[in-house]
Amino acid sequence: MLFIKGNIVTPTRVINKGGVLIEKDKIVKVGRIKKYPPLTKIFDIPGSTVVPGFIDIHMHGLGKYTTKGKKNIIGISNLEPSYGTTGFLPTLACATHKEYLQFLQDVKDVIKDQPEKGAKILGAHLEGPYINPIMKGGMDEKYLRLPDKKEYQELIRAGGRDLKIMTLSPELPGSIGLIKSLRKNNTVASLGHSMAKEDDVRKAIRAGLTHICHLFNAFPPQKPRELGVREPSLADICLAMDGLTAEVNPDGIHVHPLMIRLAIKAMGLENIVAITDSMMGTGLPEGTYRMSDGRKFRTKKGDVARLVENERIIVGSILTMNFAFKNLVKKCGLSFSQASLLTSLNPARIIGLDRLTGSIEVGKKADIAVLDSNFECLMTFVEGKLVYQKT
Ligand SMILES: [Zn+2]
Repeated sequence: MLFIKGNIVTPTRVINKGGVLIEKDKIVKVGRIKKYPPLTKIFDIPGSTVVPGFIDIHMHGLGKYTTKGKKNIIGISNLEPSYGTTGFLPTLACATHKEYLQFLQDVKDVIKDQPEKGAKILGAHLEGPYINPIMKGGMDEKYLRLPDKKEYQELIRAGGRDLKIMTLSPELPGSIGLIKSLRKNNTVASLGHSMAKEDDVRKAIRAGLTHICHLFNAFPPQKPRELGVREPSLADICLAMDGLTAEVNPDGIHVHPLMIRLAIKAMGLENIVAITDSMMGTGLPEGTYRMSDGRKFRTKKGDVARLVENERIIVGSILTMNFAFKNLVKKCGLSFSQASLLTSLNPARIIGLDRLTGSIEVGKKADIAVLDSNFECLMTFVEGKLVYQKT
């Protein structure tokens, strides 16, 4: 048995000077624990915060790795626990059909043979290729195309139940059929990089679309109809609809903290999920790195990843989940419990894993991170196994 002591962050409150008792891979007791078996191994760092392991459902790279290729995905998995992340969806954008197929096969393979000391690979997120080029953001237009039934059915077959999320622009002709096919496969259909109008969004939701990719980023600006009249922008439409969940990037630059508060108020705390959208180079010194499609970008501390050939174009972030959690608390004013919903329980629910993981509750897998007062990760446990300890 393991006994982790500290300030325990549960979905509803923080238990100060509490503890979590772990037997094998599961949480068996949470609270002020006085009694435990004699041979229990105790982890006690005074003043530490014990949070459910973070789950990142949208990330493109970490350290020296992109999400392309088995070795890279395993490399990311081994690094993630040092940021408190215990599960993630490798995400691929800007790829040929063949490369997407290969990516899905790679993800499947590493899921079957999960790294011993890594974060769990929970499935795949495809960002594209059925994306509106007008809203391409940091994507390369040459990879973007209209939904093609034969092609997407091949992707869905290749991904199977490991294809957890696909981001698409629902206004493109053929996307309603795509959304329906994704739903049939239990894949989350996600709106992103889109110019959809209200009617497109309604139709997409009726077809089964439930999720919004990085809300407020790569969204069209608001256009006034006439002086003094406010028309809803696509972001406003998303905020106003029922039955949607949305990703937000809390790096402090992608989205203003007040906009995150607004999203929470409009859509509900349980429907917002924090993502990193991180790139290769995250966690490394500032420098120039390459995207999985070969284009170069530059990273700067306290900033984002920007394309070298045009610095105005943001291609992703250099955020890690422990600092996403920190920013939700420090910049957005959320409580520890509220922030942990966005970083752990909500992402688990979106990909259908919330009965297994995502919170510190009896019966769940012991996916747990221990943070210091600066939100640096001290220890990480994946299914009750200590996989990271700060030296
Ligand atoms: Zn992305």
